[in-house]
Amino acid sequence: MGAQRGSMPAPLDCDCLIIGGGLVGASLACALADLPMRVAVVEPVASSEADPPSFDDRGLALSPSSQRILAGLQIWPGISPEATAIRRIHVSHEGYFGVTRLEAAALGVPALGYVVIARALGRALQGALRAAAADGDRLSLLCPARLESITTHPDRIEARIANYQGVGSVTTRLLVAADGSDSKARQCLGVDTDGRDYGQAAVVANISLAGPHEGLAYERFTAGGPLALLPLTMQRYVAVWAMATNEVEQIMRLDEPSFLAAIHERSGRRVSGLVKLGARRTYPLKLITARRQIGPRFVVLGNAAHTVHPNAAQGLNLALRDVAGLADCLAAVARAGRDPGDPDVLRRYLDSRRADQRRVVALSDGLARLFYDDRFPLTLGRGLAMLAIDLCPPLKRALCERAMGLHGRQARLARGLSP
Ligand SMILES: Cc1cc2nc3c(=O)[nH]c(=O)nc-3n(C[C@H](O)[C@H](O)[C@H](O)COP(=O)(O)OP(=O)(O)OC[C@H]3O[C@@H](n4cnc5c(N)ncnc54)[C@H](O)[C@@H]3O)c2cc1C
Repeated sequence: MGAQRGSMPAPLDCDCLIIGGGLVGASLACALADLPMRVAVVEPVASSEADPPSFDDRGLALSPSSQRILAGLQIWPGISPEATAIRRIHVSHEGYFGVTRLEAAALGVPALGYVVIARALGRALQGALRAAAADGDRLSLLCPARLESITTHPDRIEARIANYQGVGSVTTRLLVAADGSDSKARQCLGVDTDGRDYGQAAVVANISLAGPHEGLAYERFTAGGPLALLPLTMQRYVAVWAMATNEVEQIMRLDEPSFLAAIHERSGRRVSGLVKLGARRTYPLKLITARRQIGPRFVVLGNAAHTVHPNAAQGLNLALRDVAGLADCLAAVARAGRDPGDPDVLRRYLDSRRADQRRVVALSDGLARLFYDDRFPLTLGRGLAMLAIDLCPPLKRALCERAMGLHGRQARLARGLSP
């Protein structure tokens, strides 16, 4: 079938229909591309005209497990020249004792993670998808097109897909909702969400440095919100600065020298030599969790399933582990010629992923709330906790393995193998 760009979506029947070709939907499509199954992806933004909204300049910290997954998808070689290894991380809390220092060398790993620009990763995924679609008739890219409605039948789902020429129909045995935090697919499937509005937004900007950063990342928790500085290529940091929503306007209005001075101040004056500021962007911060991730012939994935605070840099890392777990289950089913929408298959997928998901959501949410709370026992507790982690190498190792996604049973892709 290949790409259907620019034409009315013809009636199409597939085994897996992925709604949303963002970082997560595109990763899943790449993972399924070589399997004996017909896959279609629906994405409203055509890559030749613009980038999908999340393929922007935000720097993403990818865990070693995500790096392996992208290697298993054959994506990593294309983006590794643009990836920066995180060799050390310094974590501190404004006004309190206790710091944590994490070092890749001490943990016996080449890097604690890698920072890539979302746009570079998105384009690499889209390039791989276009190549796979051109290479055979198993992958269809319905782009630009968007999901309009869903009808569920016992043996299939029928999705109505619109583009500028009208509305067409796609039937599928499994539908994956990967269309982001405000997922239309989730809404059409009748899946409710739980959530929390943190009343915060993140200001993200790339900053050029006077000297090399040597792979050192900073995370500083401050009364006004956490600031992360992640090392980037070309002697730059990406700053991810979360703050109360009502402060954003004032910070965005600061001129370049004042903004750089504010970052220097927020870093506890640890980071200096900030010389040039790139474009600033803001992102509202919310916790959104889908009440159901699986149901009759559907899976909810990525931000549509769980949108988390970026303070622990875990959103995409978690979603890629979900992609790897789902690809494992679907590979076995596809090779056996079985139904990918079989409830047992979907249950097996969710059972394999539930513990990791709960841990990441609790960690990100807990950090978002704990570090804003200034009651004395809490501030004392978190200072002690940070000190304890720093002084106790086994505890540090255990926490790092979890943060790097290297804990517990790993899906084939997370071991760098194809599904
Ligand atoms: C400031 C910030 C920093 C972050 N830093 C990190 C980090 O360091 N590490 C990390 O792991 N994560 C990080 N994240 C999280 C990460 O960006 C997300 O987890 C990731 O982008 C989620 O991808 P997604 O594909 O699920 O959703 P999205 O990126 O939102 O993609 C959804 C796609 O669905 C499409 N779509 C929408 N509506 C429809 C429709 N009706 N029909 C079809 N398609 C549709 C959209 O066009 C889009 O392409 C960060 C997030 C923020 C906000």
